[in-house]
Amino acid sequence: GLHKVCKYSLAKGQHDPENPHRHEVRDRTKQIKDDITDVIGNTPLVRINNITKKDVAKCEFLNPGGSVKDRIGRRMIVDAELEGRLQKGDILIEPTSGNTGIGLAMTAAVKGYRMIITLPEKMSQEKQDALKALGATVVRTPTEMQFDNVGSHVGVAIELNKKLERSHILDQYKNPANPLVHYDETAQEIYDQCGGKVDYVVVSAGTGGTLTGISRKLKELDPNIQIIGVDPDGSILAEPAELNASGIHSYKVEGIGYDFLPRVLDRQYTDKWVKVDDPEAFYYARRLIAEEGMFVGGSSGTAMAAAMKIIKELDIGEGKRVVVLLPDSIRNYMTKFISNDWMYENGFITEDECIKLNTSDL
Ligand code: PMP
Repeated sequence: GLHKVCKYSLAKGQHDPENPHRHEVRDRTKQIKDDITDVIGNTPLVRINNITKKDVAKCEFLNPGGSVKDRIGRRMIVDAELEGRLQKGDILIEPTSGNTGIGLAMTAAVKGYRMIITLPEKMSQEKQDALKALGATVVRTPTEMQFDNVGSHVGVAIELNKKLERSHILDQYKNPANPLVHYDETAQEIYDQCGGKVDYVVVSAGTGGTLTGISRKLKELDPNIQIIGVDPDGSILAEPAELNASGIHSYKVEGIGYDFLPRVLDRQYTDKWVKVDDPEAFYYARRLIAEEGMFVGGSSGTAMAAAMKIIKELDIGEGKRVVVLLPDSIRNYMTKFISNDWMYENGFITEDECIKLNTSDL
């Protein structure tokens, strides 16, 4: 499995038939990139300076499509191509909270595949517009419908796949390329950028692909690195189960948390889970913008809130380095939490706070 050193290179189209896990080594040296998907990954690691001095941010929001999920969008397509499963003009169908869809649609646009995205209603109009601009067809599904219901984003994708010839679901919930791209790249980048000096890594979980790949690789490189998983209040991904006592309920942060355990989520290398609610998430997302100049989305606030909690709870001292992964950018939420009015309308700030924020001091 993952722990074997892989002598085969995906870039060269080689594959160990005994191993379900196909690794990849990419050429990152070209000054002029072949196409925009070559720009995916290699994101910068940037110090947090004002909220705390202990953290460094892995800036996944700086990926060309705006999120960490660009990585799997590209990789799942490249992997399927190498397996000979795709032909130009084929239809890719994917149930997603939006960012995987954007990553897939970006790669599909460059490579000439058609794209259908099933997207729960709760996700922002900005994501739908970005998907349509990339040429994807978007089907909206009821947010509250359980994943195993035929009307859910997962259920509708399966029905469309049955109906449409030459269609494929690459399936981020099951596809080994999802955790593997983070094992091969995201985790290695973090380790190298830190020169091996990593104490804690904080990662929020949706499919759990990012957390699974990063935790496996970093534990192999240095078992002392502590992995912190982050799960929103209302989801059931955290362990132990008592942490999820508030049960499955709706929340406004997008892209993280589920009402089922995705197959790609392997929690065995996660040392500790932290739960974060909407008010904490949006508070820290707005502080990341206001105080650090980092134009991030809500799940980045979730991760930052979790980092602040563990610094306090575990009494993490000055010499320690906490890496916080910031998954997506504010582009997805320009009509949502970045707006003071939206924050007030959704009960996250008071009317007085809203008026004050909307009024210039001068
Ligand atoms: N944050 C955002 C905004 C996302 O869209 C996603 C992907 N659903 C995640 C975090 C979590 O990534 P993963 O699916 O790898 O757990």
